[in-house]
Amino acid sequence: MDRSKWMLSVGIALMHLLVVVALIRGPALSDWLAFALLYPLGAIGVGIAMHRYFAHGAFSTSRGFQFLLALCAALSFGNALFFAGKHRIHHRHSDREGDVHAPAQGLWHCWFGSLLDCGYEQEEIEAEIRDHLSAAELQWLYRHSAVPGLVICALLFSWGGFSAMVIGGLLGPVLLLHQSSAVNYFCHVSGYRRFLTHDASTNNPLVALLTYGEGWHHNHHRFPRAAHAGMRWWEIDVFYYVICLFEALGLIWGVQRIEPARRERARTQRWSRVTR
Ligand SMILES: [Zn+2]
Ligand SMILES: [Zn+2]
Repeated sequence: MDRSKWMLSVGIALMHLLVVVALIRGPALSDWLAFALLYPLGAIGVGIAMHRYFAHGAFSTSRGFQFLLALCAALSFGNALFFAGKHRIHHRHSDREGDVHAPAQGLWHCWFGSLLDCGYEQEEIEAEIRDHLSAAELQWLYRHSAVPGLVICALLFSWGGFSAMVIGGLLGPVLLLHQSSAVNYFCHVSGYRRFLTHDASTNNPLVALLTYGEGWHHNHHRFPRAAHAGMRWWEIDVFYYVICLFEALGLIWGVQRIEPARRERARTQRWSRVTR
């Protein structure tokens, strides 16, 4: 294992250990307030920034707001561009040879293993994200994605000590890691399907509830660029509602939506187009 993967493994293990210790010691109310402030930003960073925007281009935005979105991802130790590159490969090869995290590769690989080694070289990932790497500020964040999270942890530590740092700065990233891994695994093995896609993707209501809409993963595999993963009124998709709020505030535009008639037509059409 090379040095960066070894450091990442230690970092992930350490984050889990520190969270367990802080929870056993009993966090203060102020620690939970820090969590309540930072966790939603981190969740937006993962679901809306990394996934729907950087990987799939589900909407357009300004260069400034784009950077803020990438920064939200970095708050939860997410590397928006690296994720986008890897995720585009997932969509192209889902559940087949070349997939970065197919359940057929095992639960452990889907949950943790692909974070350390997804089977592709860095150059191959970077080739997927050339569209974003041209922006200098995004390129900096791509090279130093851990810096914002570490700065927040340092600030939290100086403000409220160990517990504030762990509950405010690390619990959120740990939860988001497991939420994302739950989608990677369970939304390719259990749930319901409505389209004739080339993969084994599923809509899993429980995972969708726990991931603010990301669990409507089968819908998403059929319409990857759509800003909404939910395709029925009862397929609750909190991230999409936040996207609508950003749109109403004028922060984003060109939101990609699939009309109901097109969704219905798609139910009887076999689909294997390679796309993001
Ligand atoms: Zn998938
Ligand atoms: Zn996707």
